[in-house]
Amino acid sequence: MKQIYLDNASTTAMRSEVLEAMLPYFSEEFGNPSSIYPLGQRASDAVAEAREVLAGCIGAKPREVFFTSGGSEADNWAIKGFARANAAKGRHIITSAIEHHAVLHTCAALEKEGFEVTYLPVDADGLVRVEDFKAAIRPDTILASIMFANNEIGTIQPIAELAAAAHEEGVVFHTDAVQAFGHEYINVDEMGIDMLSASAHKLYGPKGVGLLYIRKGVKVQNLIDGGQQERGKRATTENVPGIVGFAKAAELAEGERESVHTSQLAIRDHAIERILAEIPHAKLNGSWESRLANNVNFSFEFIEGEGMLLQMAARGICVSSGSACTSGSLDPSHVLLAIGLPHEIAHGSLRLTLGRDTTLEDVDFAIDSLKTTLANLRMMSPLYEDFKQGKVQSIIDNWEK
Ligand SMILES: *Cc1c(COP(=O)(O)O)cnc(C)c1O
Repeated sequence: MKQIYLDNASTTAMRSEVLEAMLPYFSEEFGNPSSIYPLGQRASDAVAEAREVLAGCIGAKPREVFFTSGGSEADNWAIKGFARANAAKGRHIITSAIEHHAVLHTCAALEKEGFEVTYLPVDADGLVRVEDFKAAIRPDTILASIMFANNEIGTIQPIAELAAAAHEEGVVFHTDAVQAFGHEYINVDEMGIDMLSASAHKLYGPKGVGLLYIRKGVKVQNLIDGGQQERGKRATTENVPGIVGFAKAAELAEGERESVHTSQLAIRDHAIERILAEIPHAKLNGSWESRLANNVNFSFEFIEGEGMLLQMAARGICVSSGSACTSGSLDPSHVLLAIGLPHEIAHGSLRLTLGRDTTLEDVDFAIDSLKTTLANLRMMSPLYEDFKQGKVQSIIDNWEK
């Protein structure tokens, strides 16, 4: 059976060029970058070159880029490392209610250490309001962490405005840019970003490698004490193949960023328009305008989310729900609740995230399958029967922003 992969926000297929660039560092070029003989120095040069390429992607200096094991580690390091190093200045942190769990759970851990955290709400479009952000800043606020783009509903936050507001009050600004790096234009100086997290496997690179950008002068605790790797801040022998693969993926992504963006935007909008026109009782989640070019997220009424995912999977379509069902919990997604969806609607949600080679035909096939799936599920739904008999109203059809 043909498989259609529409879950690129959860991970991407590594590109063959990336694998090719990595392979020598698993075999003949196995040297430790800290060794002084040529074999070690070639590994060291490869890491240095990768650091330069990745820094260049966001307008940073190579010495401000620190390799990590992924996006989660970068988020943990940025937030815990900064908070602990600057606790004497204040113990208040601002974040948003729709962050990835790598940020939310990190903030919760800091609350146990005596830090206070404000979780800013978002509007119905899934955007942080700059006024709310400004109002949340207190004299003891030291750090703000607001994601660049959301992994569930794809909304892109007004990062430059938020960072400027933070700086006006002397607050350091971190952004989880895992969904944006390699996909959206990012410049840390122009946007006023002080720390930024990224992860290779979200841009057709390998899993298990990421980076944290730390602006020169921003004080962050060491993550791993030991050797002098990562300027003494994160010891452990470098993941040379991973780092080389990350840089290769970023270089390729940067080269085709605009063309992929344009083609994905057309396919995304076609998908959104088709679903709105052809599937009744459907609601687009998150702003249509300020949105990643590859993200489609809908809620459907009178169906049960797990049934929808299972039937889609049975048709060879890899998609995910907006909810955390997949992680073993039946709680609806915190992101969908934050944009104001009631539990029963949040449960019936679907996220399609396009890849660089997703075609219009792939998306049309997925939507055709979705239409059949939803029709089947609604046919079996007692609630839908009640709706047809006029006993209950549609929440989505009466939705007001
Ligand atoms: C995937 C993701 C992460 C986690 O990255 P890993 O490299 O898998 O640890 C963090 N934040 C966002 C927004 C993500 O999409």
